[in-house]
This record gives sequence, C-alpha cells and structure tokens, in this order.
Amino acid sequence: MWTRCPTPLAYGSPPFASIDSVTVTRLSVQDASAHMLAGVHPLDSEAVPLEQAAGRVLARDVVSPVFLPPHDNASMDGFAAHADDVRESTSERPSRLHIIGTIAAGSAPTRALARGEAARIMTGAYLPPGADSVIRVEDTTVEAERVSVRDARDAGRNIRRRGEDVRADQVVMRAGTAIAAPHIGVLASVGCAEPQVHRRPRVAILATGDELVTLDRFDEVQSGTRIVSSNSYALAAAVRAAGGEPVPLGIAPDDPMALAARLREAEGCDLVLTSGGVSVGDFDYTRRVIAELGGTLSLWRVRMRPGAPLGFGTVFGVPWLGLPGNPVSALVTFELFGRPLIRTLAGHARPHRRTIGVTLADPVHLGAPLTHFLRAVLDSNASDVPVARLTGAQSSGMLTSMSAAEVLLIVPPDLLDVPAGAAVRALPLDGDLGGSDRFLS
Ligand code: AMP
Ligand code: MG
Repeated sequence: MWTRCPTPLAYGSPPFASIDSVTVTRLSVQDASAHMLAGVHPLDSEAVPLEQAAGRVLARDVVSPVFLPPHDNASMDGFAAHADDVRESTSERPSRLHIIGTIAAGSAPTRALARGEAARIMTGAYLPPGADSVIRVEDTTVEAERVSVRDARDAGRNIRRRGEDVRADQVVMRAGTAIAAPHIGVLASVGCAEPQVHRRPRVAILATGDELVTLDRFDEVQSGTRIVSSNSYALAAAVRAAGGEPVPLGIAPDDPMALAARLREAEGCDLVLTSGGVSVGDFDYTRRVIAELGGTLSLWRVRMRPGAPLGFGTVFGVPWLGLPGNPVSALVTFELFGRPLIRTLAGHARPHRRTIGVTLADPVHLGAPLTHFLRAVLDSNASDVPVARLTGAQSSGMLTSMSAAEVLLIVPPDLLDVPAGAAVRALPLDGDLGGSDRFLS
C-alpha cells in the first residue's frame, strides 16, 4: 500500500526534492509499468445495487443460500413419465399412458405420477414425484385422455436435477471476479441484491499550461492566442472508460504557487493524473511542485515514443502519474500506465489489455531505439492475422491520428527498420477487436 508521506515541506522551502529523488529513470515500458503497479492495491469495498454492479470487481466471495434449480424440472415441453413405461416404445408398438393433467412452470405438481400415467409438462415446471423422464411432444400422439409414445429415446432424459447448477452453501462467485452481464444473472439467481464490490477509484485530473483554456473560452482559440485543453476532456473520458470516476481539477497555469494550490484539491482522491509540465522546459514545474507538496517522484522518463517524459510517484499518499502534455503522448501513456493503475485500484487482477498479432501493411522506419507505439487501423478484409495500416503521420502532435486508430502497433526498441509483411504485436484500443471483423469467424 502507498503510505502517507511525511508532513509536506512548506511551499518553496529548499531543497526541491526534484530530479535528485528519482529512484529510476529511463526504464523500459514493461519495467515502468511493473514499478508503478508494484505498490498499488485494490481499494476498499462498498455494497452497490446489483443493477449498478456491471463493470465493478467483486470484493467478497458470494455463497448461494439456495439450490439451483430448486427442484427437479423439465428441460423441454412434453410429457412427464416413468422411464420404465416408455423404455420399449417404438412407432410399431407405442407405449400408451393415461394423462392425469398439466403442470405449468410456476405451479407445483399436486400428486405423484403412478406407473402407466403421464402429465403434460412445460419447460421449467417441477417434475411430479415418481417421474424421471420428459418425452418430447414430437414423439407423441394424443387421443382424448391418452398419449402414445413412439420412441424410447427420452427414457430417463430431459430433466434438470435439483442443484445441478448451484448447490446451497456453494461459493458461486469468487472475490476478484470482474462483473459482466452473465455474473449479474448468477448473482440475481442466488438473491445477491447488493454485491460487495471494490470502490471505483476517484481520479483527479489536472492540466497544466498557460496556453490552455476550457471550451467556454473558445473565442480565445479563435483569436489565435490559446488552445483548448483537450487533455482535460479526453482524459476524463478515458478515466471513465477505464472504470474510474474523474474528478476534474481544471487547468493550472505554469506557475508553481498556482499549480500547488490546484494540486491540493486532489487530496482525498485515489489517483492523481497531471498532464504537461513534466519535461525539461523552463516552465515545467509539475515534478518540483509534487515534491514540494510532500510527494515523491520515484520514476521519470520511459524509453518509449510517444510519451517519454513521464513522471510517477506519490502525492497525498496516493499514486501520482505525470503524463506528458502532448495530447497523443498523454493518451498513449494513459492507455499504457493510467488505465492499468485505475483497473488495479478497482480490483481487476488483469489490469492490462491483451495484445493481438498483426502484419504490417507498409514498411516502417524508426529513428531511435525506443519502444514505439504507432497508431494504426486493421484491414477489414483481413483473414487470419489482421493487416495493420498506419493512420498517417505519426507525429505526437497529430491528435487526429489517435482518434482514427484502432490499435497501437508495438515496435520494440531493437527494430528500427520494419519491412512490410513483418509480424508485430498490437494493443487494441477498444475491447471489440478480434482477428477478423466477419461475423462469428
Ligand atoms: P508540455 O508537456 O507541458 O511541455 O506540453 C507539450 C505540448 O502539449 C505543448 O504543445 C502543449 O501546448 C500541449 N499540451 C499540454 N497540455 C495540453 C492539454 N491539456 N491539452 C492539449 N494540449 C496540451
Ligand atoms: Mg506545458
């Protein structure tokens, strides 16, 4: 667990625990991620109405108080019967049974079934005592009060046994399960109206930069003096999509005092995201202010592109992730590091996305031995292995290249010239991408 830091230094007091206190710099992407996740644990839990539990992670085992199904019942519409009465049935020599009534789903049988008797029964209806078979309608002919069974194939079949799905006192779902629609169904079936789930992480989001405005000041963008803090909006959406609750802290100017004042508003959150001001520019104050607020900077810079100037540490006793300001870098590094942090806090045992194998459509030349994350789309005619095409210019200033991308191609540092047709891994940016976009193939 992150431990709360000692009392923050008074603002401005030396020494600035800036770059000196960094324990690791220039890590690989894998090592940086492992470093960040090592100290992060799932948050405490809360009970939520079942209707709101999808997407959350179960914090306690759920034990069923009931058997499912609660009684032996019919798995199809037909006739309840004794297997011994129909075992010899053929179309030439059908078994003839006396129909004693009809049992609908939701009604209890009124009496046991004697030998030589049958009861009409509907799917899900409780089997009358004595019956051990449900004969499908297609194998029967009804005349008045009698049913003729022309086939023996259903003798002893088409019954769902009491408790065959779930037994009372059985653990039906383990803590750590990510709750999706089928889990909601199971929890509902065993009466779990308010599952105990990990809390959704509250994620503070602070943009930094004198050049930035929110959308209500778009006239300043039109007059050419400012740009929109697109990160404020994009990161809030990304946090929500990752399962966190965004806590927008707006924009701090490039001024240490003002930045510190804004950052203090992050106290009480479970994760602090900042964007910008984390590089080596004259006005990049984020790292310094984190240190002055009593935080730590344990990692700085990662051997990747885009996104190299990245900071990580703690502030107010919780993890702080200092994303680069560049919008593409901010989103790529959020995807690689922010999303897994949020998912770990939310209780997910598997915080990372699965990568897929793709084939490069075009050759790629890279200028530096870094792990590159290239924006690409998948060829919709792809057969087994999808073919990936770059979305165009890969400058990290091209935010539209990110919005067009379906995947991030992962090019490892030792590959500077990658030929067309090369096999590489890719990180899907949404959960619906498989190897082919053809239905069920
Ligand atoms: P920085 O990391 O602060 O040096 O910023 C790098 C680049 O990203 C600069 O061109 C900034 O104008 C831009 N930038 C920084 N923060 C944001 C933001 N919140 N939204 C959009 N662009 C930003
Ligand atoms: Mg800046």
